[in-house]
Amino acid sequence: MRDIKLAAIKEETTKTVIYVDEVAVGTGFCVIAGPCSVENEKQTIETAIAVKEAGADMLRGGAFKPRTSPYAFQGLGLRGLKILKKAKEETGLPIVTEVIDPRDVPWVSEYADVLQIGARNMQNFSLLKEAGRAKKPVLLKRGMNSTVEEWLYCAEYILNEGNPDVILCERGIRTFETYTRNTLDISSVPSLKGLTHLPVIVDPSHASGRANLVPSLSMAAVAAGADGLLVEVHINPEEAMSDNNQMLDVMEFSQMMKKIRMLYGFIKEI
Ligand code: PEP
Ligand code: MN
Repeated sequence: MRDIKLAAIKEETTKTVIYVDEVAVGTGFCVIAGPCSVENEKQTIETAIAVKEAGADMLRGGAFKPRTSPYAFQGLGLRGLKILKKAKEETGLPIVTEVIDPRDVPWVSEYADVLQIGARNMQNFSLLKEAGRAKKPVLLKRGMNSTVEEWLYCAEYILNEGNPDVILCERGIRTFETYTRNTLDISSVPSLKGLTHLPVIVDPSHASGRANLVPSLSMAAVAAGADGLLVEVHINPEEAMSDNNQMLDVMEFSQMMKKIRMLYGFIKEI
């Protein structure tokens, strides 16, 4: 990986720790939770309060949704961002939200504490460059058809524009297996730990597409040395406007958080 210059581990570099308000990413274990999409104020704020109560560190929620079908719910846009802002005012949780168009980066940055670049846009180089000029950390998801090396080159695009704060998020890749939505490449976590100083988190929700698998994959992420999780949670998953099969309800999330905390406590001692 000759040209991975800024993202690569060098002997003198220590791990990158990114501060989002008071939340540290890259030291300890950080959990980002919330609905797939911002649907309305009640759903978003109730979910935000519940995930905070369960111990989440940041709130996620999409206002711009990159959907497979043009007829599927595309997100509330600016209205969704305003709802996220309100959820932050209510809970204090920093906001992670996706940006899908380079032209939107400057103004979405006014609402987002962390800009998410989704799997489908991992190699959208103009979006990467624009995010590299933003003053907010970037959560860069792995493309579903991308290698670890290609992913690191995308992080390099952002770093090269002057933004040092990139969080890598493994969210599963396409394989011949169709039982799960994607296949969680758990080996990417320790692989990246040997290649880059950037924080690495895992999204077990998009990786599996199945809510009942999310707790096990989350535990696997902790055991593999991930710096955190991005988990989809909804107050009423059955009625969600997107990704309803993979979202945990509030009770399931809270139970999972207890296990995660215990396992993390154990792992960090060994
Ligand atoms: C999401 O996080 O809601 C999302 C669309 O994820 P991905 O880009 O990993 O498919
Ligand atoms: Mn989703």
